[in-house]
Amino acid sequence: MTQSASNNLAGKTALVTGSTSGIGLGIATALAQAGANLVLNGFGDVSGALAQIEATGAKAVHHAADMTKPAEIEAMIAFAAERFGALDILVNNAGIQHVATIDEFPVERWDAIIAINLSSAFHTMRVALPGMRERGWGRVINIASVHGLVGSAGKSAYVAAKHGILGLTKVAALENARTGVTVNAICPGFVLTPLVQKQIDDLAARESLSPDAARAKLLGEKQPSAQFVTPTQIGDMAVFLCSDAASEMRGSALQIDGGWSAQ
Ligand code: NAD
Repeated sequence: MTQSASNNLAGKTALVTGSTSGIGLGIATALAQAGANLVLNGFGDVSGALAQIEATGAKAVHHAADMTKPAEIEAMIAFAAERFGALDILVNNAGIQHVATIDEFPVERWDAIIAINLSSAFHTMRVALPGMRERGWGRVINIASVHGLVGSAGKSAYVAAKHGILGLTKVAALENARTGVTVNAICPGFVLTPLVQKQIDDLAARESLSPDAARAKLLGEKQPSAQFVTPTQIGDMAVFLCSDAASEMRGSALQIDGGWSAQ
């Protein structure tokens, strides 16, 4: 996607939760390339993620808020506004996965998935939306999943959280429909990130497959294109949602899933 004048995010500040790896880092990079300052969040390789953003010329800082902790989320939103003056773009991306049937699903994993993949977006939005409304412009992008639209066996908590975030997206969009603040969701199919690599590794071990065979099998079962979606493609979609062209998109769920949900 080429960068048009309406995609120019210079002077805007974006916060992407869970942006130390995978899709979040891809989105943060695309927003930085479009000119935004970035607040990164997440665990693991913070310095590598900061360096990737700073290489675009954007300013970047990291806040280590744990998305299961509402008080830390509140502190992170305040930090973003203090550090850069205002928070204009909020991307709720942090997420985890656990695969097990309902009767064997660990209660602690259920609670963690609902907290990180769903409730954290309620907490970031309830703190960030008033400032966006006051300034008359804002963009909230919730990273849902094709699993916000369809189910898969073994993914009860993830599918429940992702269906939930699409409902939350619609309500937040309606509550802000007469303002300059839009709220939308992106629904990716399989993207080759650490979250999916673990599922490939588990499948390879369970069925004695090579890494390549396990990757092809996981994709082939669900994604008609047999190709992974890339973090860059999702980042470009996020930049589009921040553009003037998307200012009347409100409460949308955008699939980018290699045809998964078309079946
Ligand atoms: P990932 O494992 O690469 O990244 C997850 C990020 O979330 C990391 O930065 C991690 O540190 C952070 N994180 C995890 N727990 C956290 C917590 N408690 N507090 C703060 N940060 C935390 O995963 P990904 O595949 O890039 O997934 C990102 C989002 O995209 C998730 O919401 C996921 O559900 C969604 N998604 C992924 C795929 C896929 O195929 N990978 C498909 C559809 C949707």
